[in-house]
Amino acid sequence: MKLICTACSESYPSDLAVQRCSCGEPVELELIRASIEHGNVWERFGGFFPYLSKEHIRNFSLGEGNTPIVEIPSLSQQLDNQIFFKNETQNPTWSFKDRGTLTGVVRAVKLGFSRIGTVSTGNMAASVSAYGARAGLETTVLVRQDIPEEKIYPILIHGSRLIEVDAHFGEIYRKSLEIGERKGIYFINSDDPFRVEGYKTIGFEIADYFSFNPEIDYIVVPTGSGGLLRGIMKAFRELKASELIREIPEFIAVQAEGCSPIVSAFEKGLDEVGSIDNPETIAGAIADPSPPSGNEILRILKKGGRAIAVSDNEILEAQDMLAREGLFVQPASAASLAAVKKLREDGMRDKRIICILTGSGLKVPSAAEKIVKKREKLKIQKTSIDNLEKIL
Ligand SMILES: *Cc1c(COP(=O)(O)O)cnc(C)c1O
Ligand SMILES: [Zn+2]
Repeated sequence: MKLICTACSESYPSDLAVQRCSCGEPVELELIRASIEHGNVWERFGGFFPYLSKEHIRNFSLGEGNTPIVEIPSLSQQLDNQIFFKNETQNPTWSFKDRGTLTGVVRAVKLGFSRIGTVSTGNMAASVSAYGARAGLETTVLVRQDIPEEKIYPILIHGSRLIEVDAHFGEIYRKSLEIGERKGIYFINSDDPFRVEGYKTIGFEIADYFSFNPEIDYIVVPTGSGGLLRGIMKAFRELKASELIREIPEFIAVQAEGCSPIVSAFEKGLDEVGSIDNPETIAGAIADPSPPSGNEILRILKKGGRAIAVSDNEILEAQDMLAREGLFVQPASAASLAAVKKLREDGMRDKRIICILTGSGLKVPSAAEKIVKKREKLKIQKTSIDNLEKIL
């Protein structure tokens, strides 16, 4: 099998630890054609993961994937579109990152690495730390200096080595790959080709749920580095190449206004994504100031699809709407519903839409606090035991 550049089509043998093309753009594993078996998502779609054995799943999986798709008719009605939610909060470390971490860890082990790492402050750091512990690998997490304290312990608890680096996020990303190569550390970063491979399972599960005739108009994807959107897209491309579906749905990449380099480039019709100096948003999980797969996202969206930005207020409002329906997601995830709401205001009607709810609300307690404090009635009441009956 080959790794192929998403931009210039240069190819590399897949037994080399190539993570980016010499032209600077991301590489991906060549398109795989397969058929479908029985079992869980890794088994059913095993043909699309020829590098993954049953042994790998037994040794490294924490039960990622197989997440529910939830339809909430009242929200669909309110927003004049049929909306389905892919609930990725139900993964082992409460975000979709686990799907790609599993394939990334297998990749690292197969290449003979005993040390892995990642560059992240949030969900990916927690995920790689958990899977690193599961696999018995030495795990290094590189973060920026301004990491909030609430994010530190979910990383350290798995025994990872946590290093604060005084640099921009994009710089740490590039350096990690360079140093990793010399030091024998496989950095499973945001758009590592095998991390992206794992994300394909989301696309397979969606197609499966709709019996391979999804007739979906849009898949709405909260987008930071671009890895997630690339993975779901690759799943649909492979299903089409295997003649299992007829149409590839269009994608909507959603970013937060306070950090939307992909949206800016898309709106200006550019081929290359620039970088943002001071990202400022409550949706930290999608605030990637220089998205390493940004140009590839532009290449994908140009063939059909769009990119939109939503404000922090719109995000919090959407998070509130979802919470009122029983879904507690983090701000980055609520951005998907915020985008649908915004598009509806621009006249979008009667579309079938999938919103990817990427991660759990428990990850960002401060956002929940903001929402609750805005709602008058949500307070703790106190009473003596004698007075309890009266206030009830
Ligand atoms: C990582 C992440 C994203 C964005 O994924 P990318 O692959 O970086 O585009 C979106 N939402 C949440 C909750 C995440 O953790
Ligand atoms: Zn290239």
